[in-house]
Amino acid sequence: MSSYTGLSRRWLKGACEACGGLERLEAHHIDENPKNNRSQNIQTLCRSCHRAEHAQRRSARLEARLDKWRSDASRVVIDLLGAKILKIASGFRSTFLSQV
Ligand SMILES: [Zn+2]
Ligand SMILES: [Zn+2]
Repeated sequence: MSSYTGLSRRWLKGACEACGGLERLEAHHIDENPKNNRSQNIQTLCRSCHRAEHAQRRSARLEARLDKWRSDASRVVIDLLGAKILKIASGFRSTFLSQV
């Protein structure tokens, strides 16, 4: 977040693209790669919108990781449950068959 050089400054627009503020404008790299200085990768944000943008991205990433963890965890539970149900079902089938 800190290394904004004169190189990216020339891509800056006159106002923050989020709130329209005119002060403390910074270049935000949309793909978070500071070497990608193509104009479509650079957004002009004031310092507070820039901070907010990064905070939001961090929590979005965290949320994505949690989602993945949740789906992994539920898959494990489903696997375990599935195995148990199969075991019960086959046990039931053999008792049923032995009674016939
Ligand atoms: Zn702003
Ligand atoms: Zn940024």
